[in-house]
Amino acid sequence: MLVDTGRESTRAGLLEALRPWNIELILLTHGHFDHAYNAAFLARKFGAKIALHKADEALVRDNRIRAIHSRGLLGYLIRKVSISNINKTHIESFEPDFYLQDGQGLEPFGVDARIIGLPGHTAGSIGVIAGGACIVGDTLMNMGGASRARIAEDFEAVGQSVELLKRTAAEVYYPGHGGPISRKRLLKL
Ligand SMILES: [Zn+2]
Ligand SMILES: [Zn+2]
Repeated sequence: MLVDTGRESTRAGLLEALRPWNIELILLTHGHFDHAYNAAFLARKFGAKIALHKADEALVRDNRIRAIHSRGLLGYLIRKVSISNINKTHIESFEPDFYLQDGQGLEPFGVDARIIGLPGHTAGSIGVIAGGACIVGDTLMNMGGASRARIAEDFEAVGQSVELLKRTAAEVYYPGHGGPISRKRLLKL
């Protein structure tokens, strides 16, 4: 199982990193280009299925359809760069094989993991909890220090999703940008 697929420039590195693996399932934490760009390509290459939350299905076809807001100076800069990149990136379209939803278990795919719905950064943002680890997409960021999402469609929803994360039993949280965040650190966000 692969969670997220990186932006255009990561493709060669991804292929190298994935060389020892056979990917059967690609999960997208949300529909932004820097997570979904290589999804169609990798699904074809590995014969893998792709899944994301239904609420981001239209977004993944066109990242421009929803407004992105920012918090703070760093958020302002991230938003500016993101929008510029969105305007020059075309994500190859694909049909999701199935949709992800809050509470869904991945046992039918042979993975002992569970989906947690984390709307806010985008409406269809999700996380994946496996053992003591939780992959959180862009609900948390770790750029210039651990934080909540610095850009989002809905910051109030981000706040609620961060509270949900605090109630999980995971010990380590893996954001889409920057290194892992400990539970101790999360509880202060
Ligand atoms: Zn994002
Ligand atoms: Zn991102």
